[in-house]
Amino acid sequence: SAKRHGRNHDQRFRPSLDMVGSRQLGLVNDLRTALAKGDQLELHYQTQHYLEDGTMSGIEALLRWRHPEHGMISPGDFIPIAERHGLMVPLGNWVVDNAIAQLAKWHQADIFSVPLWINISAMQLIQGDIESHLTAALKHHGVPAWKLGLELTESVLLDDRAGDIYPRMETLQNLGHQIAIDDFGTGYSSLSYLKRLPVDKLKLDRAFVRHLPDDREDAAITGAVLTMARGLDLEVVAEGVETETQRRFLLQQGCPQVQGFLFSRPVAADELEARWNQEALYAPVGIDESTPTV
Ligand code: C2E
Ligand code: MG
Ligand code: MG
Ligand code: MG
Repeated sequence: SAKRHGRNHDQRFRPSLDMVGSRQLGLVNDLRTALAKGDQLELHYQTQHYLEDGTMSGIEALLRWRHPEHGMISPGDFIPIAERHGLMVPLGNWVVDNAIAQLAKWHQADIFSVPLWINISAMQLIQGDIESHLTAALKHHGVPAWKLGLELTESVLLDDRAGDIYPRMETLQNLGHQIAIDDFGTGYSSLSYLKRLPVDKLKLDRAFVRHLPDDREDAAITGAVLTMARGLDLEVVAEGVETETQRRFLLQQGCPQVQGFLFSRPVAADELEARWNQEALYAPVGIDESTPTV
């Protein structure tokens, strides 16, 4: 093409771009295979906690791809590929089906009676009929809709290809799902959507949490989000809580919920089950020493 024979400075970068391109092409085909076979994909689960007493408030399902040659590939790397190549709807449906199947097991065993949250990509609203897919899967497994929460990023709200997002979100909420805004504070949307849209929960992005409490600006933003959320009757979970200092600061600020490596990394379902002592009402097993009392 004309572009390929462009100016010199284009030529210089072409080899690496082509390499990225071909590697990506390979990954696209591999992802198709992974979707068809299903056994390279898994969900890992990360707990969320009430700060006051440390009990579990929810669980987030995070997608993992165990590539036969490249090993574990991060969702940050393969989800954009899936979105660009029309694989996000089948991938999203895989997540819905498998998250709900897992929920059904916990529901029947009467354990983890907290909402399980899944991440929803804009493409699932643009190209897919997520409403019917969710309803069918929940019905098939006999799980109530309140047990499955939906995380959407602000960029989803801004994506006008998703059509008028308001009625879609309202439908999802009317079906019984809770809705969280993921990575809150990193998008460029106007805060007024919080007034208009059916939202239950904000997930304060870990970019604001990372340097707490030393970073004055981050501390101010965190405080402001918490105050606003109280005024709007929204739940808040702070993402990426890694240190005891962060935990203590968030507790002082009245942050209701947290999620992060300090409490648990995302783990496979059987590990999650092993780590939690059901009799002690979700008191963590064996990490009492590393999680100082509140
Ligand atoms: P997210 O939804 O904001 O998920 C939180 C990410 O932060 C996860 O990364 C999690 O492992 C990581 N994390 C949790 N606690 C900590 C912490 O204390 N410190 C640090 N440094 N990181 C922490 P992960 O699993 O690599 O996922 C990255 C992103 O990929 C997710 O961000 C989400 O946007 C997307 N994603 C993951 N699974 C799915 C899925 O099933 N569907 C869609 N559409 N997107 C997904
Ligand atoms: Mg999320
Ligand atoms: Mg997030
Ligand atoms: Mg985030």
